[in-house]
Amino acid sequence: SYSTAKNSLGSRTSESFGKYTSPVMNEHNDEHRQLLPHPLQGPGIRAATSSNNSVEEQLKNTDTHLIDLVTNEIINQGPPVDWNDIAGLDLVKAVMKEEVLWPVLRSDAFTGLSALPRSILLFGPRGTGKTLLGRCIASQLGATFFKITGSGLVTKWIAEGEKIVHASFLVARCRQPSVIFISDIEILLSSQVSEEHSPVSRMRTEFLMQLDTVLSSAEDQIVVICATSKPEEIDESLRRYFMKRLLIPLPDSTARHHIIVQLLSQHNYCLNDKEVTLLVQRTEGFSGLDVVRLCQEAVVGPLHAMPTTNLSAIIPNQLRPVTYQDFENAFCKIQPSISQKELDTYIEWNKMFGCSQ
Ligand code: ADP
Repeated sequence: SYSTAKNSLGSRTSESFGKYTSPVMNEHNDEHRQLLPHPLQGPGIRAATSSNNSVEEQLKNTDTHLIDLVTNEIINQGPPVDWNDIAGLDLVKAVMKEEVLWPVLRSDAFTGLSALPRSILLFGPRGTGKTLLGRCIASQLGATFFKITGSGLVTKWIAEGEKIVHASFLVARCRQPSVIFISDIEILLSSQVSEEHSPVSRMRTEFLMQLDTVLSSAEDQIVVICATSKPEEIDESLRRYFMKRLLIPLPDSTARHHIIVQLLSQHNYCLNDKEVTLLVQRTEGFSGLDVVRLCQEAVVGPLHAMPTTNLSAIIPNQLRPVTYQDFENAFCKIQPSISQKELDTYIEWNKMFGCSQ
């Protein structure tokens, strides 16, 4: 299903990038991080472009409660994410590095290219690393990361949703480079949104206006990454807003191996290579999140084996190592969360509207 991603990657690599060597070519090279100040270490809100006077004016005129809400609840200050923290997805990572990261990091070298992909749709099953990818791009860019959930907008903030979208983009303009990540985007862009003046419809209008501004600005360093597990619900007239539409599939066996080994390495365990291979086989059809949950369930096995009276007094090295039997028990509780039918839908949607479009 990635032949299209591969094709587009191949042609751009050879034609457009010439001799330019990206600072991110080498996964272990951290130099590029120093090109841009980290948002959490730098000054709060700072001027970034010539059009910023008006942005700062607008910010002054915006309700401080909204700015506080964006700063405290939408700007996401989790630990930085590195490419190696994301298992598998090699082609997706390559596309995102080449087409999102490098052009923003080296906008001077990419000025001749028209229509850089500043808006991306990541679609696929839940728990497969879409949010991780968004956070990783932000970390690599030293960008401020804004995380908005479509479901949060319509449940928690329905009355203010439109204003929150507006304020988020405003703050993003002031704290460039910025990555705005919106999950469950189908909620805002669904073809089912009918009533013209409903809160959701107003949020949608605001979002599309903001996206238009981002897409038409040559100098703003803002990337909008949207995610959905229901791409088919997105109104067909709105698909064109996403310059790249990338399928994020379930982890393959190498990726599942990566996740299992990484998680086990943080614990005292006693599994041989054959048993690890067996785990990789038995987790076929699991999402990345399912694999993580399985491991989390297994690694508490030794704790469950202790008499409850002792629990508060236990020190970690008193615990027996995690064994294959702990995974056997975990498999009874944790099952794959995605059905084959759902997977087929993604493959179909990818064929029709995936990144070759
Ligand atoms: P999504 O946004 O696709 O629903 P997330 O990126 O939020 O999924 O992933 C949820 C969690 O599942 C992550 O925090 C991570 O622990 C785990 N996970 C999912 N996919 C991967 C992956 N490819 N590599 C490593 N961990 C993963």
